Amino acid sequence: MGFFDRLRKPTADPAESSGDRDMTGTPEQADPGSHEQGGAKRSWFARLKQGLKKTTQILNTDVRDLFRREGELLDQAFLDRLYGLLVRTDMGVTAADAIRDEIASDFRGRVVHMEDILTTIRGKIQELTAQDEVPLRRAPSGPTVIMVVGVNGSGKTTSIAKLAHHFKSQGQSVVLGAGDTYRAAATEQLTIWSQRIGVEIVTGGQGADPASVAHRAVARSLESQADVCIVDTAGRLQTQLNLMEQLSKIRRVIAKLIPDAPHEVLLVLDATAGQNGISQAKGFSDAVECTGIVLAKLDGTAKGGVIIPIRQQFGMPVKYVGVGEQPSDLATFDSAHFVEALFEGLVPQPASSR
Ligand code: GDP
Ligand code: MG
Repeated sequence: MGFFDRLRKPTADPAESSGDRDMTGTPEQADPGSHEQGGAKRSWFARLKQGLKKTTQILNTDVRDLFRREGELLDQAFLDRLYGLLVRTDMGVTAADAIRDEIASDFRGRVVHMEDILTTIRGKIQELTAQDEVPLRRAPSGPTVIMVVGVNGSGKTTSIAKLAHHFKSQGQSVVLGAGDTYRAAATEQLTIWSQRIGVEIVTGGQGADPASVAHRAVARSLESQADVCIVDTAGRLQTQLNLMEQLSKIRRVIAKLIPDAPHEVLLVLDATAGQNGISQAKGFSDAVECTGIVLAKLDGTAKGGVIIPIRQQFGMPVKYVGVGEQPSDLATFDSAHFVEALFEGLVPQPASSR
């Protein structure tokens, strides 16, 4: 059994389809993004690696294909082929240019080995995705309120389920607010998740005022002294203006109950949506003040390089990545872990990285 296979989820596990796996899964003691230790860190990492598997495989095959023999002369033809490969990871032309130029200036006219190339790519990707470690902002006391926004279908509701599962597994109490009242199915979907995970939910039903649902959810979390309140929102309304007004109103009613809330406004991006998806979400984040990104569906793409343009174009940190459809399929984002997960098995680890 290979290393990847050992990390793969046991699909034959009957608990998985019933959802039991998620409710009894390994508890994580550490707070995401903060000072994680041992097991918790390892399990976030294993999930990240699993989520990046498709991208790693492509990278592995493509880089190997550049080398017809053990050492290859680094000429223009090699650089062109390398460039094509980099662009295919969805990292964007700016990043691909930068990597190609660095490799050209380091190695042009010399014989290079696969390891040289991978080490340079790895270093550059690490540099391009680096961000300050920003743990989830928590309320100094009382409930931490997290608002979740993003375009339709990006993965908001599923990410809320994952966050709720994460907090619950840390022993924290969670109240969900079903603020996407635009579609009836949205409340239903979040209600099913809340039952499956075992957390409280406040709903309003289709057509209800989402701000009033958010208000009641935050009020409920104050009353029940919950640790976290997570508010879902609609991703699409008749007009963009309408949507933005609705989101501001939700913010205002939340702040009426807890002045420094929402403590986080997380923008959910779909990793499979490509460059167009990014620019669509960019317009969205310009209009709503967001504090961090959840990059969902990283497991659904071989183009995990998309994280680079995301890091470049959004002035906020990527806090979590979604790596599947189960509640436990969430990992914290850390650029060192990201490149490590991407390159593990392809290039020797620098001694300092783990
Ligand atoms: P919303 O409209 O933004 O609330 O998006 P949903 O949470 O309803 O998700 C849209 C679809 O994407 C659903 O079919 C989810 O199961 C799927 N999805 C969400 N996150 C992930 C993920 O991390 N990985 C995969 N493979 N699918 C996901
Ligand atoms: Mg939804």
